[in-house]
Amino acid sequence: MSQDKIIVSNWKMNLGIREATHLINSLKKIHYKDPKIKNIICPQFLLIPLIKNLLKKSKILLGGQDCHHDNKGAYTGDTSINLLKEFNCEYVIVGHSERRHYHNESDTIVRKKVDLALLENIKPIICIGELLKQRKSKQYPQIIKKQLEICIPDNFNKVIIAYEPVWSIGTGLVPSLKEIEEIYQLTKIYLEKSKKIQDFNFLYGGSVNSKNFNEIMTNTNVNGVLIGGSSIRIDEIKKILTTC
Ligand code: PEP
Repeated sequence: MSQDKIIVSNWKMNLGIREATHLINSLKKIHYKDPKIKNIICPQFLLIPLIKNLLKKSKILLGGQDCHHDNKGAYTGDTSINLLKEFNCEYVIVGHSERRHYHNESDTIVRKKVDLALLENIKPIICIGELLKQRKSKQYPQIIKKQLEICIPDNFNKVIIAYEPVWSIGTGLVPSLKEIEEIYQLTKIYLEKSKKIQDFNFLYGGSVNSKNFNEIMTNTNVNGVLIGGSSIRIDEIKKILTTC
């Protein structure tokens, strides 16, 4: 297992030009204790050209919040992986629950995006996670396994999987360390057996903040976090990046 610490900021549909510039300029001044930190920023598409320029000579990495599953075509309003690549995006979030929910994205569509991203040498950050009712009814292991079965390619060298329970996103509710570990173990066993993947990065996402971050990271199987709300608050993201 790699020792990289992966901190993904999902800005979602937030921040204008001024706020984004201010946040990036503040992030650029941070000195990390751990040189293995990968600080990945995923802004709105229209902010990406600006952020790309602001990040010149910076170690901060850039990612897209989504991409289309085809390289190009008549897909009004969508963005292609090639364009993301042209703007120095090395990562792309796929299968975020907000995309699944608001845009009806199925596991099959997510898998197409994963395949295209890998083909184009962009690292997909593949989101999985169950709804509250699925957790309560104890269906979540089957749900997670189905997502892994469809969304994750076979025999791939390395993938990044973000476990984001839907009931935790933006709610302030965070699963216990034991619950996160259970999903890690389930993922590991499933991927090793059926997909022949020995090595993967496992991220946790859902209501991460500067107060719960360190506790979440005490699990050495968790290689990092995917952060929404706290990633656009300078004080919060600074604390997270400087304590790890
Ligand atoms: C997310 O959108 O991926 C997320 C984890 O959001 P939040 O941190 O706000 O729960």
